[in-house]
Amino acid sequence: MKNLILVSAFLLPLLGFSQEIHNKCGVGLEEGYMIKQRMLDNRANVDVSQFENLKNRSAVTYIPVTIHFIGDDNGEGYGNYGDVFATFCAMNELYLPQNVQFYIKFPLRYVNSQDHHEDMFSASQQYIANLKVDNTLNIFTGKSTLNPYASFYTSWGGDWLFLLTAQAQGEGTTLAHELGHLLTLPHPFYGWEDIDARDYEGGPSPSDLGGWNGEVEKFTRGTGKNCYSAGDGFCDTPADYISFIAPCPMTYDLRDPSDISIDPDENNIMSYYYDECVTTFSQEQQDAIMIDIIDRQWDNFSAPASLTDLAGTVATQIGPINNNIIPIPLYNDVTLTWDAVAGAEGYYLIVERTYSFGVVQLEIIIEEFIMDPNAISYSFSGTLLIEPEYYRWSVTPINEYKPCAEFDTYEQFTTTGIDSSAAETGLRSDLISEESNNFEIYPNPARDMFIISTDAKTDNLVVIYNTVGQIIFESPIISRKYEVNVTNWTPGVYIIELGTKKQRVVVN
Ligand SMILES: [Zn+2]
Repeated sequence: MKNLILVSAFLLPLLGFSQEIHNKCGVGLEEGYMIKQRMLDNRANVDVSQFENLKNRSAVTYIPVTIHFIGDDNGEGYGNYGDVFATFCAMNELYLPQNVQFYIKFPLRYVNSQDHHEDMFSASQQYIANLKVDNTLNIFTGKSTLNPYASFYTSWGGDWLFLLTAQAQGEGTTLAHELGHLLTLPHPFYGWEDIDARDYEGGPSPSDLGGWNGEVEKFTRGTGKNCYSAGDGFCDTPADYISFIAPCPMTYDLRDPSDISIDPDENNIMSYYYDECVTTFSQEQQDAIMIDIIDRQWDNFSAPASLTDLAGTVATQIGPINNNIIPIPLYNDVTLTWDAVAGAEGYYLIVERTYSFGVVQLEIIIEEFIMDPNAISYSFSGTLLIEPEYYRWSVTPINEYKPCAEFDTYEQFTTTGIDSSAAETGLRSDLISEESNNFEIYPNPARDMFIISTDAKTDNLVVIYNTVGQIIFESPIISRKYEVNVTNWTPGVYIIELGTKKQRVVVN
C-alpha cells in the first residue's frame, strides 16, 4: 500500500497530459504500474484462510454501487438511464462465474457541472472525493465531450471509475474491463502500452521495454519463465503484446525475447481484442479480484432486497393508452396507471410531448424515479400539458440488482378541447376524476348528436356539464337509447353524469 500512495502522488500531474485516446480504456502504462503494485501488495499480504473461505463459499458476494450522472449546469445531458442500466447488467454477467455481483444503490446521484460534463478526465481528486459515497463502488457516467476518453478507472482512492456515455450502450465489455482494473487487474499486455508490437514481427522482442518495470513477459512454456513478475503478473494469462484494439484471433507473428511465438488469450476481458472475443477472466485474475474485495472489506455487504431479474419485463400500462383523447385538465391532475410488476422496487416514469403520434420527442414533461414497489399510478398537474397536443409515456420497473427491463415501451395520448376561459372559473375536479362503463356513449367524438345507451330503462336524471362545471343539459332518461342533440354546442369535452356514474364525450 505504501508503494501505491507514493506512486499516486507522483502520477497526479501525468494524468492531465496523457492525451492519446485509447478506444477502450483510459489506463496507460503509469496507471498500469500502480494497479500491478496494488495487486502484488495484495498477493503478499493476503490472509490466506480468509481468501480460501471467500473463494470456496457458494454464496454470491454482493457489492453496492453508487451511480453518479454528470449533467451540465442546466441539469441536462445525463444520458439514457436504460442504456446505463443495461451496461451495468452486461457487466454483472461477466462477474457471475466467480460469484461476485454488483447492485445499484438508490438514490441515483446527479451532478450538474458544466466543466465536468465537458471534461471529466480532468476532474480533481478533491472533486471526486466530495461526491463519492463511502462503502460503495462509485461509478460516474457522463459525456465528457471535450475529453471523450473511453471509460476509465482512476487511481485516487482506487474506488471509482468513469463510464463514458458513448460506452454505455447496453452491450460490450468495457465496464467489466474497467472494473477489473479497479480490482487490481493490469492489462495482459502491461509494458507494451503505446508500443506497436508489430514493429518486432518475425523476430524476437527486446527483453526490456524500458518505462515502468519494462521486463517483457516470455512465452509461458518457454525458457526463463517470468510470468509471475513480468507483464500483468499472472501465469495463466499468456504473454500478450497487443496494446491496440485488435481483431481476433491474433494472427501477427510475434515472438518473445527467446524467439518463441506467443499465443495470447483473445478471450481475456483485460485484453484489447474485439468485444465479441472477450468473455472471461483467468482463474488467477479471479483470485486477485477476490483478494482485493477482501482488502477493501467489500466481502460482507448484505444482498439487495430483490433478486428478481427484470430483463425484458414490461409494466402493462392501463391508461391512458391507445391514443386516448383526454380532456385538457388545466387545474386537475392527470393520472397515469399501470399494473404492478413482481420484483420491482420502483418505477422509472417518463412523459414526453411528441411531434404528432410518433417518436419525435419535443420535450420531456415528467421524468421520475418512483421508489415505491407498490406504485401503480402517478398523478401530475394538468397545467403541464397543452392542447391539442400529442404525448407519450412509458413506465419501467426497476430494482437494484437487475434493473434491465424494457425501457422504451410507450403508450400515446392526446389532449383536446377546452376553452381557455376555463382557467378563470376553475375546473370541477370531481367531474373529471371518475369514469364508469355502466352506460355507453356513441358516437364519441360526436358531431351532431350522441346516444346514451343504458343497461335498463331508467328514470335517472342525466346531467351534462362542461369542463368548468356549468350545467349544459339536464333531462330524465326515458329510454334505453337516449339521443342528445349537440348541433349548437361549443366543441369541447363534456361530462355526462347519470346517477352516480360519469363519462366524457367529445363534441367536435
Ligand atoms: Zn484497460
